Amino acid sequence: MATILDGKAVSEKRLELLKEAIGESGLYPRLATVIVGSEPASQMYVRMKHRACERVGIGSIGIECPGDATTEKVIESITRLNRDPDINGILVQLPLPKQIDTERVIAAVNTDKDVDGFHPTSLGLLMSGKPRFAPCTPKGIMTLLAEYKIPLAGARAVVAGRSIDVGRPMAALLTNADATVTVCHSRTRDLPAELRRADILISAVGKAHFITPEMVKPGAVVIDVGINQLNGKLVGDVDFDGIKDIASAITPVPGGVGPMTIATLMENTFAAATRME
Ligand code: NAD
Repeated sequence: MATILDGKAVSEKRLELLKEAIGESGLYPRLATVIVGSEPASQMYVRMKHRACERVGIGSIGIECPGDATTEKVIESITRLNRDPDINGILVQLPLPKQIDTERVIAAVNTDKDVDGFHPTSLGLLMSGKPRFAPCTPKGIMTLLAEYKIPLAGARAVVAGRSIDVGRPMAALLTNADATVTVCHSRTRDLPAELRRADILISAVGKAHFITPEMVKPGAVVIDVGINQLNGKLVGDVDFDGIKDIASAITPVPGGVGPMTIATLMENTFAAATRME
């Protein structure tokens, strides 16, 4: 049976350490969230982020824009937050409604406050090997791998998915850590063969039970980023029951990558406050 990479426990520990560090710093970091519309999943994620702030001693405010807001209106809210010296971090909850130009909104965030790490400048710094704010989900995965002392240098890592929030920055972080990285996507030829080569397999595809036992090399470390609904249950991309006896280590869903994402957002916000000092 594989080691369960317990993101919930690791994130709890990190949040406790962060709370102490914030207390000792004498700083009062503040995060602003921006949400457009009332999509229940987005509202739930934003609530979880505010709760985590409260827990570690980060102040937070929530800006709510109506679901039919224009790109200009959302950018106006961001510009106000950019100018507010009391705000250290700005998080725009994605996805945004269809009428909004997401790229323009992301580019409007002051790069010193870009705690989500999606601004082109943040992504560029990450690609150059000198990240300022790396996106929270892949950075949280790196923290989890480090916590369990999983060796990365020279390891063959295969990432399924090439989104800006997970797949691409994940590949950059693994490359920076000296792994040999392959990125797979919807047009990859013979995906199972690519995945079977992985010492570290990371799935960010968003399809329930997409990763099946024959795609996993015995002894591989399997990281499941997916969050999917299946018959009213929350499941990842990975067929956990089929793979737990093949992999050497595996993240559960829930309780794996998700909590690490939120803990990392808190760490990035404190880092932003420290940099602004
Ligand atoms: P996305 O839809 O932007 O990207 C999905 C990627 O999967 C694309 O790059 C696409 O090329 C690839 N893909 C689709 N079909 C494929 C196929 N048949 N073979 C290979 N690749 C294929 O999604 P995302 O934002 O990267 O999120 C992916 C999943 O991770 C979702 O379930 C999302 O909910 C979840 N997620 C979880 C967290 C967390 O904190 N746990 C954070 C972000 C996203």
